[in-house]
Amino acid sequence: MSDINETIIEVRDLCKYFNVGRRSKLHAVDGVNLTIKKGQTLGVVGESGCGKSTLGRTLLRLLEPTSGEIIYKGTDITKLSKQKMRALRSELQIIFQDPYSSINPHMTVEDIIMRPMVVNHTYPTRAKMLERARELMDTVGLAERLHDAYPHELDGGRRQRIGIARALALNPSFIVCDEPVSALDVSIQAQIINLLMDLQDDLGLSYMFITHDLSVVKHISHEIAVMYLGQCIERAPSAEIFKNPRHPYTRMLLAAIPKPNLSSRAKKLEVIRGEVTNPIDPPPGCRFAARCPFAQPSCSEKDPTLTEVTPEHFVSCHLVQNGTL
Ligand code: SF4
Repeated sequence: MSDINETIIEVRDLCKYFNVGRRSKLHAVDGVNLTIKKGQTLGVVGESGCGKSTLGRTLLRLLEPTSGEIIYKGTDITKLSKQKMRALRSELQIIFQDPYSSINPHMTVEDIIMRPMVVNHTYPTRAKMLERARELMDTVGLAERLHDAYPHELDGGRRQRIGIARALALNPSFIVCDEPVSALDVSIQAQIINLLMDLQDDLGLSYMFITHDLSVVKHISHEIAVMYLGQCIERAPSAEIFKNPRHPYTRMLLAAIPKPNLSSRAKKLEVIRGEVTNPIDPPPGCRFAARCPFAQPSCSEKDPTLTEVTPEHFVSCHLVQNGTL
């Protein structure tokens, strides 16, 4: 029996910079540390442009990291050759926000799901692959009659089910779910999240679930990491983040979640004000200082580091760490 606390993936000081012009660098991911346990979900949350999708892609080496380590099942995969990485690809999969943009619109549903098996020669015969594709359609709740439908004939929820079936085709252990429900109606979002949770229970999958919406990850995540301008600024078990958010940015994100209220005096939504620090060669100090209502002059002098402030609760803020916030 596997240890429920077994780590499947650990990221150490991971950086991904992009060259901008001749000398400047955009710090998309900047010194991120995190771990994901086997059979669990890490929710990664932050505004658009905070580097969360780049983090997910770098974790799978779809983008080459600038520096840092990615330890998957005990092996640092940043050191693996392209050939060895290719062999590992089947275990590490991704589900995209809009599967329509990543699938061939001229292929039928079963051909799309079968494609990874064809490329990887997973089964000796086409009949066996077809059988597995039909099984996967059943697993993700796609009716058998849709086997020869084309993606444009299906709604967003069914298209996302194809994306999930395709990601499962090679029996992965770890899946990056990159905003998989952001483009869907709220009722369909719940169906897809429930499907992902059922698959996790049945197949023991581990997820990194990326979203800009904290309320979406509340139920699916065991742990949540909040990102701001390429850095993880708070990380804690999901219930703890919602009950006791510590970083000023996390508090603002939570305050911005709309709450159902039929009263005409319903509280207006909080808006996170202030100018966002430029991620190109960012200056030293806390990157949230320009928008933080608690900022002190010292916040812009020294980089805060992600530090455990209570058991399993990590925060990157000088004031939280010295007990004044
Ligand atoms: Fe705000 Fe300072 Fe904490 Fe940054 S370090 S979040 S500026 S209080």
